[in-house]
Amino acid sequence: MNFPVVRMRRLRRTEALRSLVRETRLHPGALIYPLFITPGEGIRKPISSMPGVFNLSVDEALKEASACAALGIGGLLLFGLPSEKDEQATGAWADDGIVQTALRALKKDRSLDSLVLMSDVCVCEYTSHGHCGVVKRDGDRFEVDNDPSIALLAKTALSQARAGADIVAPSDMLDGRVAAIREALDHNGHDQTPILSYASKFSSAFYGPFREAADSAPQFGDRRSYQMDGANLREAMREIELDLAEGADMLLMKPAMPYLDVLHEARQRFEVPTGAYQVSGEYSMLHAAFERGWLEPERAMMESLLSIRRAGADFIVTYFAKEAARILG
Ligand SMILES: [Zn+2]
Repeated sequence: MNFPVVRMRRLRRTEALRSLVRETRLHPGALIYPLFITPGEGIRKPISSMPGVFNLSVDEALKEASACAALGIGGLLLFGLPSEKDEQATGAWADDGIVQTALRALKKDRSLDSLVLMSDVCVCEYTSHGHCGVVKRDGDRFEVDNDPSIALLAKTALSQARAGADIVAPSDMLDGRVAAIREALDHNGHDQTPILSYASKFSSAFYGPFREAADSAPQFGDRRSYQMDGANLREAMREIELDLAEGADMLLMKPAMPYLDVLHEARQRFEVPTGAYQVSGEYSMLHAAFERGWLEPERAMMESLLSIRRAGADFIVTYFAKEAARILG
């Protein structure tokens, strides 16, 4: 059967018809809003490259969380900016670390129970050199030492679970960290805490603005010896297989829009809940175009989120979460 019997436009004639046959939908419960927690009180420091995003002290984070809960947003992903950094990333795993303090405050407020509290597990915001583990240096060469580093990551995840994290989300891309975290959690009474693994995180230029937000730019070198090469899809699938074998419960694909094919492939192959992180650079470049009047903000934002959902994301970590949730009602 073909034209003129088949006319595809018949089902596009009105918004009611289009809505009836819409294949992919967004909803606020599938959006996760990242928060950057900073020490102090009453602090709401704008991040210049990310309009509408702030470094927040714990009291301000509580207000932000209330707004998110009222909008029906699914959860929060917490990052921390410690008051001090050192070689051992003490601030990442300290019982009174900035993320741990925020988690306790958020957990205490029962009006926030509808939000899933996720905490980023990495040490780059807490190390003086800005790398995601313990660094061995030899002149101008350096290496992130894998096995001592995953011990720090496990310690970090455990302290976050103790402080009230509903989900811990390792983002470092070191080998064996999911198994190390699972073991630390299980041996310390947190066998019910799920691991959301950034299993195939790519080394990406689109993380640029985040480094301002989280003050986590490496002081020397880059992260290409642990984050993935952007050219590699098969390797990404292997990384995911390994993380699932080590005990990851869910996946977080990162970045989102430049890697939709990787997200789609993961969705086809693996039966676990899979999210995608629309990263800082994706947000900033859209905002830059909005500011110049080059793109229509609402439509471009929603289309960007829809593309990620259509590619296979069950949930989306995005700096647009609040605005999108407002539109979705
Ligand atoms: Zn890191």
